Amino acid sequence: MKTPKIVILGAGYGGLITSRQLEKSLSDGEAEVTLINKHDYHYISTQLHKTGAGTASDDKIALHIPNLLKTNKIHFKKGTVQNVDFGKKKVYLDSGDKIEYDYLLISLGFDVATFDIPGVEENAFKIKSFQSTKAIYNHILRQFSAYKIDADPSRLTFAVAGAGFTGIEMVGELLEALPNLCRAYDIPFSKTRIITIEACPTVLPGFDQEAIDFTTTYLKKNNVELMTSTKIRKCSPTSIDLDNGEVLPSKTLIWAAGVRGNFLLEKLNLPISRGRIPVDEFLRVKGVENVFCIGDAALCMKDEKNALPPTAQVALQQAVLCGPNMIASLRGEPLKPFMYHHKGTVASIGNKVAVGKVFGLKISGSFAALMKQVIEARYLLMLGGPSLIIKQLLKIKKPYTDVSTVSNQK
Ligand code: FAD
Ligand code: NAD
Repeated sequence: MKTPKIVILGAGYGGLITSRQLEKSLSDGEAEVTLINKHDYHYISTQLHKTGAGTASDDKIALHIPNLLKTNKIHFKKGTVQNVDFGKKKVYLDSGDKIEYDYLLISLGFDVATFDIPGVEENAFKIKSFQSTKAIYNHILRQFSAYKIDADPSRLTFAVAGAGFTGIEMVGELLEALPNLCRAYDIPFSKTRIITIEACPTVLPGFDQEAIDFTTTYLKKNNVELMTSTKIRKCSPTSIDLDNGEVLPSKTLIWAAGVRGNFLLEKLNLPISRGRIPVDEFLRVKGVENVFCIGDAALCMKDEKNALPPTAQVALQQAVLCGPNMIASLRGEPLKPFMYHHKGTVASIGNKVAVGKVFGLKISGSFAALMKQVIEARYLLMLGGPSLIIKQLLKIKKPYTDVSTVSNQK
């Protein structure tokens, strides 16, 4: 009998942890598994704000995928998925390669939602991938360098769109980074501005009032300008237009105003809802044989009306079940339904402070920051065991601050 082929698209949180599950549970020779990802590194999406601000070294955020695979049960293939033919059961890559599958997992993650706001796609910086956030840091360095020549204040005006969790984490990281850059470039910190622009009346809309109050007070104390109840209408390379008529001169708009499923999903000829692929209780794509979907690419309902949020916490829990469900499918055994258990949410505001709620307990300040580190370490433990935690802790190299080493690529 032919060995069944399992193909996993995307080596993010969902795809990698599913791979780890398959490594653990598949018998030798039971299936051929191929993991396909755009790059040969896995980036830790939950820490991309740190790459954007240059507060973590590259090797802490981007991990070489083949090193993360423990056995030869998984074959890693670097490639960008262009399309899937679900009738012929083939995945098409940009290289022209066609990969056949019997069982497929779509775990292609998120894209940034720009809501067709004029100028955003071309001019704003996105917190989307390792490369896109490296581009933010490179741009910031170029602004510091150019300010030394022209003293244009708009170069040191850093605006962040959206004060949801991503926006607040980005602002927190800028607070951490800018004083160091000011020292490196010999520019007074008072010359910099950090502005957060949020359409809702508060930061962290919908989260606990205590967390909102703590974050508001902390940001104001650190001179972050909070523009709440303010929508961005358009932006150019040098300015941001707000719905109150104000035009902010700024050469840096970092877009953290929401996410959606990977744009590629729209090409796949599957039903799409809110940019994501609806899945059943077993994490299978509805109406397509042997195709599973998890993480930010999947629309997984919490109840009749509400979908689960696009979070790493959801993707990880789904992955832990998806591996065994894929194996059960190929063995002809019953599948288990997915049940989500929300453990909490913690958002960092720089390295030393965070806010959140864990197992119903509201936390803030340095204790919350410690909890955030515990959550990050737990992911590394799932991914590579204690040795990966130690390896990551030993990486202490700091990102460069010298603009001469920076590429111009956005
Ligand atoms: P991803 O982790 O995004 O992985 C998708 C993978 O697919 C990537 O490796 C990508 O390169 C690859 N890929 C994409 N397109 C292609 C293609 N065409 N071909 C081949 N490969 C492709 N959630 C939390 O629960 N807690 C947090 O603290 C938290 N913090 C966050 C902080 C930030 C700054 C951001 C941006 C998000 C945060 N999230 C957090 C959300 C979390 O990062 C996502 O929910 C999570 O990454 C989703 O996992 P995923 O596997 O679906 O996708
Ligand atoms: P989000 O949708 O949660 O927040 C986007 C914010 O941008 C909203 O508050 C919205 O009002 C605002 N906005 C939208 N359009 C705007 C405009 N034109 N002008 C000004 N403001 C505008 O998106 P996110 O923060 O990127 O989060 C995405 C997902 O990732 C969520 O599920 C979140 O929980 C998760 N996440 C979690 C953490 C964490 O747990 N620490 C961190 C980051 C992200």
